[in-house]
Amino acid sequence: MNGLTLDAITIALGQRLLLAISARVAPGEKLTVMGPSGSGKSTLLAYIGGFLAPEFSASGRVFSDETEITNLPAEDRHAGLLFQDPLLFPHMSVAGNVAFALPANIKGRAARLEHAQMALADVDLADFGARDPATLSGGQKARVALARTLVSHPRMMLLDEPFSKLDAGLRAQIRELVFAKARAAMLPVILVTHDEADAEAAGGQVVTIGEDA
Ligand code: ADP
Ligand code: MG
Repeated sequence: MNGLTLDAITIALGQRLLLAISARVAPGEKLTVMGPSGSGKSTLLAYIGGFLAPEFSASGRVFSDETEITNLPAEDRHAGLLFQDPLLFPHMSVAGNVAFALPANIKGRAARLEHAQMALADVDLADFGARDPATLSGGQKARVALARTLVSHPRMMLLDEPFSKLDAGLRAQIRELVFAKARAAMLPVILVTHDEADAEAAGGQVVTIGEDA
């Protein structure tokens, strides 16, 4: 089965069952997981990405294409993550931030920077490579974070409310860009959000968690 498969996943915090979910997300398709603050949205992405905090207990299986990844370390799952905060390294240039995520088989400083510049051009930031991330607008930072994620050749995109800090106009624009890039790369996408507009824009399956809590 291609894409991302969540097979009977449950996550609990002590005695409290946080969430239970089964879903399939085909390559290039999106699943939106909605739920109020504290319902376990970020926790679900942490489980899928392989960095669940030890306080939680979980059951169920995760498949990336044919491969079960449930017990793989995070670095072997190849999940592309975007968070509310773009989390750019402040001590690196914009291009340096992107180059940092490039696969190790692209060797040499010049070649890596050139790749980073191409990835930046691909998100309409062709002339921004030398900039200090602190000098960028929120939308520009979000584009850098997207470029950095894409150059790592992820097998899935996990989006943790990455649009929620952007204001309305920009928000729609960045959202469309992220979705377009994920579709072009045929990546399955899981978007967690508490925003109806995000779910509508994603246009795919929607699952709600934590309703009864
Ligand atoms: P959401 O992303 O939907 O807002 P979270 O997944 O961040 O929710 O959190 C789900 C629940 O788990 C919340 O009650 C939160 O306080 C709790 N929680 C989150 N991280 C930890 C942790 N490391 N240890 C204990 N509890 C946590
Ligand atoms: Mg969260």
